[in-house]
Amino acid sequence: MMVVMSGDATHQDAREVAALVRSAGGEAFVSRGGNRTVVGLAGDAELLGSIGLHRMPGVERVARTSDGYRLVSRVPGMERSVVEVAGVPIGPGTMTLIAGPCAVETPEQTLQAARLALAAGAVLLRGGAFKPRTSPYSFQGLGERGLRILADVREETGLPVVTEVLSAGDVELVAGYADMLQIGTRNMQNFPLLQAVGEAGRPVLLKRGMNATVEEWLMAAEYIAQRGTLDIVLCERGIRTFETSTRNTLDISAVPVAQGLSHLPVVVDPSHSAGRRDLVVPLSRAAVAAGADGVIVDLHPRPETSLCDGPQALGGQDVPELARAVEDAARLMGRRPARELTGRRESGDLTGRRGAGELTGDEASEDRGLVTV
Ligand code: PEP
Ligand code: MN
Repeated sequence: MMVVMSGDATHQDAREVAALVRSAGGEAFVSRGGNRTVVGLAGDAELLGSIGLHRMPGVERVARTSDGYRLVSRVPGMERSVVEVAGVPIGPGTMTLIAGPCAVETPEQTLQAARLALAAGAVLLRGGAFKPRTSPYSFQGLGERGLRILADVREETGLPVVTEVLSAGDVELVAGYADMLQIGTRNMQNFPLLQAVGEAGRPVLLKRGMNATVEEWLMAAEYIAQRGTLDIVLCERGIRTFETSTRNTLDISAVPVAQGLSHLPVVVDPSHSAGRRDLVVPLSRAAVAAGADGVIVDLHPRPETSLCDGPQALGGQDVPELARAVEDAARLMGRRPARELTGRRESGDLTGRRGAGELTGDEASEDRGLVTV
């Protein structure tokens, strides 16, 4: 069961609901997001249905939910949620492009990638400082030095930062730099990590496990929500199938399926789905057309030198096509590109000065020194 609080309910109202449930022998978990507060209940449903919860101040309604997840579930008639990341909306009505390098490599590379991201219309910067690599011999990321680079690039460009955290012990450190914490596909069922990010006071981007069902994904989101935050964005990033022409198979149907079962926003990562640069723009279009609330794309100023996932990274020459594809598809779906709401593109737009996304060698070196490590 879940209790959905009304928009004007106070924290005290939610606490009183939880106290009543506990006094009746049940368990209660209060979870808050940008535009909603929900209390998840566990215990004897018959009994909890009889204690007058719907008459408590601030209660909008009491609803029955699935067994495995409650706080993140979408009961009939419930609006989908908007998650705000440092003022950037992700949710119905808007189209949020997140872009940046797979991994933070150098200050210059990260700043250049951020400028490409801005030129593409992105409003959030992605970039990994802690990299979950399949081989222990692959580049593992710069760690805290990478986080400092991301913070410097945010300062320079105004783009809030989304970055991955790999272990529960690093959550506090990463949350000290990041605007949004990313949980990668390999960690979708790392339950202590999910609980730790749920307590970190930052929005969370939860990637779908490459072998996980939609239901398992939502139960992973529930672990985060149970610890207090409902500011969770689901990210479909492809699943393992028998198909070998792509790295993973983008499960496009997961977008409307997850949006029907959960009120959380859903974005798509076409880069990690396909593992192929040539498929990123077509899959971005498909994602928006299927109703995704955003797209997260790997960009690199020189993809051929990338230390991580180069074959899937878009370069400067691909930026105009990506920008057009996402905007056109967004308008087709009646969504406003989030950059129109944040106005961030103006602050770092390259298109007025040069072809979108093109950085010359001189400009690249000019960028050196703007960011300190
Ligand atoms: C990433 O986004 O950098 C990443 C490692 O993604 P995934 O967890 O989906 O493989
Ligand atoms: Mn990657």
